[in-house]
Amino acid sequence: MSQTVDMEKIVAFCKRRGFVYQSSEIYGGIRSSYDYGPLGVEMKRNIKEEWWRSMVYMRDDIVGLDSAIIMHPKVWEASGHVAGFNDMLVESRTSGRRYRADHLIEEATGLDVEGLSAEELTRIIQEDERIKDPVDGGRDFAPVRPFNLMFETYTGPVKSPENIAYLRPETAQGIFVNFKNVLQTSRVKVPFGIAQIGKSFRNEITPGNFIFRTREFEQMEMEFFVEPGTDEEWHEYWIEERFNWYLKLGLNPDNLRKREQTDEERAHYATRGVDIEYNFPFAGWSELEGIANRTDYDLRKHQEHSGANLTYTDQATGKSYIPYVVEPAVGPDRVMLAFLVDAYREEEVRGERRVVLKLHPRIAPVKAAIFPLTKKEPVAKVARQLYDDLKGEHRLFYDDSGSIGRRYRRQDEAGTPFCVTVDFDTLEDRQVTIRDRDTMEQERVPIEAVRERLKSLISG
Ligand code: ATP
Repeated sequence: MSQTVDMEKIVAFCKRRGFVYQSSEIYGGIRSSYDYGPLGVEMKRNIKEEWWRSMVYMRDDIVGLDSAIIMHPKVWEASGHVAGFNDMLVESRTSGRRYRADHLIEEATGLDVEGLSAEELTRIIQEDERIKDPVDGGRDFAPVRPFNLMFETYTGPVKSPENIAYLRPETAQGIFVNFKNVLQTSRVKVPFGIAQIGKSFRNEITPGNFIFRTREFEQMEMEFFVEPGTDEEWHEYWIEERFNWYLKLGLNPDNLRKREQTDEERAHYATRGVDIEYNFPFAGWSELEGIANRTDYDLRKHQEHSGANLTYTDQATGKSYIPYVVEPAVGPDRVMLAFLVDAYREEEVRGERRVVLKLHPRIAPVKAAIFPLTKKEPVAKVARQLYDDLKGEHRLFYDDSGSIGRRYRRQDEAGTPFCVTVDFDTLEDRQVTIRDRDTMEQERVPIEAVRERLKSLISG
């Protein structure tokens, strides 16, 4: 089924239900920064936990890491970010606005200009009459120049050039510089991976599309180290694994595809890159995740710049080499937006409109709501007891206000997959009703069996 939601609606919905707020809203907000509210924080945590579960807990060959955001500045020289982590910036002299030159050209002409130099982009903008300032239609642009996306800061009290530090623009480098530490302190053997989740920062020229592109965001990256020569096969393996992760979590396959990166868009050191894309209703096919064959580029560069020996010796064969790296890299913020638009539905049920988020139970912010049919004892006491017994295992919600119908609607909107109601019959038969969000069907379950029943329903 195609999505039924546009950007305005999803932004309003996210605010109304406490998924995502504009940051610093009482001060008028700050562009491109968002805060995750009570439901949003649960949903984003679930996405990260599902990723961690599949990447780390379910595997014998991957370990986790949590590295610092502020690293030695030489890390970013070695990785090539200081010299080359640039977007092409163009300023309109009529409106004073700044744009990404590639986006400006592509939107006006449909040309694919990925990888062209500043001079080439400047020439296209000057010559092609179709390219205009989207704000005022002006055609007076300054020459295109590269703009480094790394946020700079200073460590210590003196703001001098030797104290410049960067907020990391990707989590991957924290993994590469710890390659040797992990090798020496855990029992890993190539092929193995190191996984990390954390904040990254990019001073994007044109952030936008809500939480799709922001300047501060999170990344979930895993660097999988393999013997050179086996890299292509492993790359293929991770493309399939990662694609299936989305399907298992219920994303509509019609809105999901793999796309081979072109030579121009691929990082110069990567031999192959495949994006997993989602068809957003407001932006079309856009990258959720990139899976790259980074070769031995990063480890080799860090070996050169740091002087540390980053070769690996296979104890069984005696072979020594710098491992190749296959990297699935994804942003949970983007993934959350995809899950939200994919799950959002407006349905007509018995003459009534309901908004429902058909999220996979593992992704849903609240797993189950517990309702007493009435606020009065002893029904309420039984419901409260059930809630207290189960709340340490899942995120639950207790609600005793309003009609049962209204309480269902509230949970449907929040994406809560199951509602458990304690009614008058419960007092006699010790059974409760579990109602399914999607089918709206109800089953009677003995109160003692609710724990196991919910567990199996949630694990899907
Ligand atoms: P894009 O082309 O959209 O800028 P990218 O190819 O530069 O993305 P990578 O460097 O491959 O992105 O980063 C890996 C993942 O991190 C992306 O697939 C995306 O999910 C996430 N990501 C990157 N930049 C942002 C951002 N500004 N806001 C939110 N998520 C981001």
